Amino acid sequence: MTVLEVKQLKKSFGDIHAVRDISFTVKTGEIFTIIGPNGAGKTTTLEMIEGLVTPDQGEISYGSLTWDKHAADIKKMIGVQPQSSAMFDLLTPQENLDLFATFYDKARPTEDILSLVNLTEHRNNQVKKLSGGQRQRLAIGLAMISDPEIIFLDEPTTGLDPQARRNIWDIIQQLKAFGKTTILTTHYMEEAEKLSDRVCIVDQGRIITLDTPAALIERLTDEREVRLSFLDGEKAAKEAEQYSENLPSVTRTERNNRALKLWTINPEDTLYDFFKFTKEHGYQVEQVSIHEMSLEDVFIAFTGKEWRD
Ligand code: ATP
Repeated sequence: MTVLEVKQLKKSFGDIHAVRDISFTVKTGEIFTIIGPNGAGKTTTLEMIEGLVTPDQGEISYGSLTWDKHAADIKKMIGVQPQSSAMFDLLTPQENLDLFATFYDKARPTEDILSLVNLTEHRNNQVKKLSGGQRQRLAIGLAMISDPEIIFLDEPTTGLDPQARRNIWDIIQQLKAFGKTTILTTHYMEEAEKLSDRVCIVDQGRIITLDTPAALIERLTDEREVRLSFLDGEKAAKEAEQYSENLPSVTRTERNNRALKLWTINPEDTLYDFFKFTKEHGYQVEQVSIHEMSLEDVFIAFTGKEWRD
């Protein structure tokens, strides 16, 4: 079921066209990720959907509800991760959660939220003494206190170390297990690929492409990259490259000394033929790996630009 529909959103700040044309729908229970480089328009898009910024044009509907007519009802449905600055640094996580709970008619028990965001142990420490990852977890907890159906998380893992990032991923997956819908922004491709049911890649205020991570990667190409290196040195790699160039499944090759890369539409056939060749010539392959295409490759293919975290 569709819980949110966004149609042809536009927003400019003076002559900066932050959002030029964004349309998508989000389904119940999915993790929907908006990904794009800095300045792509992710935050502006999210803030329009959250009712914090008024679009210049376009429509936003939560089922039959719209901001102009049903703001109070929409506010009950959604939970927005507050900016760090909205938390009270001198209070503890428990006190912050208790305080935020008083803003709503109905709130989840603080205990449950502390456990969900793994802060039970730190419940009585002042927020200013928490690590970056713990503060971000508290921010997610604050978004969850009213038990919303839809949760908005704007770059919840930016600046965190890999372990802290993974802890946040666990919480987001937990929200999904509860049947919640999560709308997430990030500029980490790996995060989008691992977490999302669907990914919307934006650049310069427009959607470049939108689909499941697997479908985006599959649509990009049927090719796989096979990486090999030879114990016998450059001569073996060179001959193997010449041999591979003539294999029907190989689309291109690249060689750097003893290391050879092959792009193939059929890795099994290619490797079968390849190992027949090396065996016949008595060459020893030191390493072999098949490299899967990633969302980063999708971004590069669509924009022609390198992806930078
Ligand atoms: P980041 O990953 O850096 O947060 P983003 O994809 O979230 O980027 P936005 O924050 O939506 O992008 O910004 C899009 C563009 O709009 C940027 O050029 C930004 O400087 C500009 N912008 C955003 N908010 C405002 C504002 N309130 N006033 C003026 N310009 C703004």
